[in-house]
Amino acid sequence: MDFKIAVLPGDGIGPEVTTEGVKVLEAVGRAFGHNFTLEHGDVGGISIDKHGVALLPEVRDLTQAVDGVLFGAVGGPKWDDPDATVRPEDAILQLRSHMGVFANIRPVKVNSWLADSSSLKPEVLEGVDMVVVRELTGGLYYAEPKARHETPQGWTAVDTMRYSEAEIERILRVGFELARSRQGRLASVDKANVLECSRLWRQVATQLGEEYSDVELSHVLVDSCAMQLIQRPAQFDVIVSENTFGDILTDEASMLAASMGVLPSASLSEVPVTGKRTLGLYEPIHGTAPDIAGQGIANPIGSILSVAMMARYSLGLTKEAASVERAVDQVLANGSRTADIAVAGTKTVSTTEMGDLITAAISG
Ligand code: NAD
Repeated sequence: MDFKIAVLPGDGIGPEVTTEGVKVLEAVGRAFGHNFTLEHGDVGGISIDKHGVALLPEVRDLTQAVDGVLFGAVGGPKWDDPDATVRPEDAILQLRSHMGVFANIRPVKVNSWLADSSSLKPEVLEGVDMVVVRELTGGLYYAEPKARHETPQGWTAVDTMRYSEAEIERILRVGFELARSRQGRLASVDKANVLECSRLWRQVATQLGEEYSDVELSHVLVDSCAMQLIQRPAQFDVIVSENTFGDILTDEASMLAASMGVLPSASLSEVPVTGKRTLGLYEPIHGTAPDIAGQGIANPIGSILSVAMMARYSLGLTKEAASVERAVDQVLANGSRTADIAVAGTKTVSTTEMGDLITAAISG
């Protein structure tokens, strides 16, 4: 089959890991007889440097003319001036909103080969296999007003958390459907003891729970969720949360899986159904890692597993997705590790070498 893919590498280690993701995608094409036409675009800081904006309209519109979007990461100290009028992060925020990808799906599974690489004890990690569903186009990151004012007492800043019932219902529905297709447990995260948005969230979750009576629904306060993720992570099947809480909880959860570098994500505009083709934005959960950018040591597995998610949800290529996941497993089983997940007795490889090993392990 023929597919068109937008490749938006961005800044820092974004291009380094995306190159490996693309290499693996092309290996899938060779092994299974598919043709991938790649359309590259600048996003983030590199786009600001070249074009003065974080996202050109033609790059934004490209995302509507392709079968899937592979994104790297944007941002870095070079563009961090608090008074700047354009920011690299505008690119990803605008893209998510333009594509209508309100559901960010982040699987967190402890690969048995990496249990020793985590900072948590192996017995705490046993059986960890969860999906975090994060609302992606609403809440604190998007709602207005969002501003700074000078007052006689000094500066004041305001951000707004706003959610409509419809926005809450559609993201919760993704959570319920995913839970139904897995172990049937949904933890709905909120801060209903303090926030009005969270009280509405809990009310909608409870109402929707009646429609999904086969799913065991629990309400978990976000602070308690943060604690339980470290204390007893294996209890979670699917977690659903609003934008900011989900952003923070997924970084925390990534430590269960040993490194930010190994976790993929899919951002979709509807309930994901295996085999059904849905436009999506796929990116590793990490940022641009300025501390290691340019050294050739970044872990490309998050980007490579994002390619697997794209194959599964946007391209309808289930077998191909599984072949990428198997290839990653095989390479880890053979003892190759990038520096972030290396332990005694493993062989440390570069970003490119890890990509080459996984590419070589793809089979049809
Ligand atoms: P980060 O994810 O870039 O890095 C956090 C830590 O994890 C660093 O020590 C880094 O070296 C390590 N790390 C991350 N990815 C890795 C990989 N693939 N392999 C090995 N180690 C890896 O987060 P940060 O340092 O808070 O942010 C850096 C920049 O990235 C900021 O400008 C931030 O705004 C941006 N950012 C962008 C996105 C995005 O584009 N979606 C997401 C998060 C952060």
